[in-house]
Amino acid sequence: MSKLLKGRTGDWEIVIGLEIHAQSITKAKLFSGASTAFGAEPNTQVSLVDAAMPGMLPVLNEESVRQAVRSGLALNSKINLHSVFARKNYFYPDLPQGYQISQFESPIVGEGELEIDLADGEVVTVGIERLHLEQDAGKSLHDQHPTKTYIDLNRSGITLMEIVSKPDMRSSEEAVEYATKVRSILRYIDTCDGNMQEGSLRCDANVSVRRPGEALGTRCEIKNLNSFRYLRQAIDHEAVRQVEILEDGGKIAQETRLYDTAKGETRSMRSKEEAHDYRYFPDPDLLPIDLSEEFVARMKATLPELPDARKERFVTAYALSPYDASVLVSERDTADYFETVAAGRDSKLAANWVISDLFGRLNKLTIPVSASPVSAEALGELIDLISDQTISGRIAKDVFSEMFESGEGAKAIVEKKGLRQVTDEGAIRGQVQSVIDDNPDKVADYRGGNDKLVGWFMGQVMKASQGKANPGMVNKLLREMLSA
Ligand code: ADP
Ligand code: MG
Repeated sequence: MSKLLKGRTGDWEIVIGLEIHAQSITKAKLFSGASTAFGAEPNTQVSLVDAAMPGMLPVLNEESVRQAVRSGLALNSKINLHSVFARKNYFYPDLPQGYQISQFESPIVGEGELEIDLADGEVVTVGIERLHLEQDAGKSLHDQHPTKTYIDLNRSGITLMEIVSKPDMRSSEEAVEYATKVRSILRYIDTCDGNMQEGSLRCDANVSVRRPGEALGTRCEIKNLNSFRYLRQAIDHEAVRQVEILEDGGKIAQETRLYDTAKGETRSMRSKEEAHDYRYFPDPDLLPIDLSEEFVARMKATLPELPDARKERFVTAYALSPYDASVLVSERDTADYFETVAAGRDSKLAANWVISDLFGRLNKLTIPVSASPVSAEALGELIDLISDQTISGRIAKDVFSEMFESGEGAKAIVEKKGLRQVTDEGAIRGQVQSVIDDNPDKVADYRGGNDKLVGWFMGQVMKASQGKANPGMVNKLLREMLSA
């Protein structure tokens, strides 16, 4: 599949680098003991440090360091044993310090790489430049008063991990897959909850275009994309905008842009500031972070099985296709659910039920698997009833619907509604015979060579048995009795 963008004057290549801001799961903020719980009344979770009262000193939260190291390890990246906090100076009403404490020249995590799977089976490697720790800012509320802007400092000082990729992505699809993978990994290791609606994970997309084979073009950065759908749309619109400018003989101005979700277009926010505008310098209130090899090894030992390893295992241990395996491992809850269903059962059948039937239902209602009305144990019981031929696969679909709606168990529903499969050969033979007797013209047709009619006969017998006859047996008896 070509990823090139067709312009009036030929093909263009899109180049994308992502900056992902992931909020750490920590009870307290990066440099203060204030709570990080979401949804509190404005300005109720603000310590004197977060409000930047004069003379207050930041105290580093060790848990934030552990989370950053675990994240770096899980993202296949190098952990820097020595890292330094720096002040990034700028003025904004929701930044009472007048600077953000971040990391600049010496981040806690250095280079790494991630592999992403595309829908067509291609595997793309995306480089990671760095992961650094920084403070979040507060929030300006412009919609609370006709002429005033209010400030909520609850977010001020919360730990963010900024994960910066190399400019290695070539389509919005790749960017979305990469961001999805980063989110999935962070959720696996419980360092970020990945909740994009609550702002726990935000993406900035850097986009440029060039003729294939040429040097990198000038980029624009689209800020604060808070859903993967917007990430995709913003990149696609921005690339087309740049191509149009270049094809008209214009130049791209390096700038920061916003994606207007209502209009579906990006618009300029400010021209790009350079690093020297921020006057970065090492924060004199904080010591460098110095980690030992043993600490890093201990953090590594706490990591659970990660999505890539789990996917490999699903392919070999459960004989699943790589695609099915990747769908199942993308969320830890889902993978756990599947493993409970598959334990001691036909794994292909289990995967089909989980992916098609269960996900189909859950996605329609946007219910997470953790809140599924059908538990993994209950779905397993249903699959057992299919495997031991108590019910047919067809009837099982109806039983599943009923389980999903009523929360009742499979066995109870089968007994209550009398859905047990009929495997009594004598009874089925009788039903086949009456269908044959009632349709002499169709029988003649079949015997004259119209083999396909066997499907029609199947349907009639199944209908007569209210779906309960064992389909394999009906098929076998039909072929035998029709050709007699
Ligand atoms: P800054 O600190 O100014 O934002 P960085 O060098 O840290 O600049 O780059 C930020 C992001 O921009 C990175 O994800 C990087 O991969 C991406 N990037 C750099 N150059 C380009 C380019 N020409 N086109 C697209 N993305 C780019
Ligand atoms: Mg940047």
